[in-house]
Amino acid sequence: MWPFNKKEETPVYNPEAFQSENWDTLTDEEKRSQLQALENKEAEEQGRKARTVEIDETAGEGEHGVYKSDGNGGGTIQVSKYDLDHNQYECMDTVYHEGRHAYQDDVVHKRISHNENKETVNQWTKDDKEGYIGANEAHSQGRDFDYRFQAQERDAYDYAREKMDGNEAIQNDPRFQEYAANRDYNDLINQYQGEEFYEVNGEQAVCEKTDTVVQSRCDTAEWQNRNQPQKAEDKSETLSQSQSQDAISR
Ligand SMILES: [Zn+2]
Repeated sequence: MWPFNKKEETPVYNPEAFQSENWDTLTDEEKRSQLQALENKEAEEQGRKARTVEIDETAGEGEHGVYKSDGNGGGTIQVSKYDLDHNQYECMDTVYHEGRHAYQDDVVHKRISHNENKETVNQWTKDDKEGYIGANEAHSQGRDFDYRFQAQERDAYDYAREKMDGNEAIQNDPRFQEYAANRDYNDLINQYQGEEFYEVNGEQAVCEKTDTVVQSRCDTAEWQNRNQPQKAEDKSETLSQSQSQDAISR
């Protein structure tokens, strides 16, 4: 399969393109095209419209990416230029992760047919509204775990992990192993901090506690909207703000 036809505008997804010895020969636009090909494959499998993959030149180290919805089944997946230069597997994870947010977006807004159960959709819907805890907000309170384990995020993290770890073509690449080690370390730190804060054991228990935080945010917002209906028009602003905060982590 390698070398692929670089002349093709949208190449077919090819995991070998991501192997370091191949990846490092590509231009930025060729790298972007490979990530777009991955997103196109994901979108087809999930029965949704493909989003446009863009390179974010301004993202710093640790700011992996963000999904920006246009509110109508389209939008962009922003991938960090830093990751593009330093570790392609961070970019690959970002496409899986942000593409999963695109899927959640389509499920919550009833744009596609799916097999998700009612409880999952209900939980994602809370995150989609006032319940969503932005990465910056959580971080400023020393509660990164609330960001990491809220329903939409934990689903996107789990989804990306499964895809990455199931990709046989990349497992022996030292850069993949570096990516995976960082990811697993961060996940464990979040879990331990959540366990300590909530005084519970296990990831599942932390998730349940975070769900109650999300629920109380929704309840508070509902109460405020009922009593101050003139404030409702601020909502779209709040939503885009919380989504842009996703850029800090994923
Ligand atoms: Zn996310």
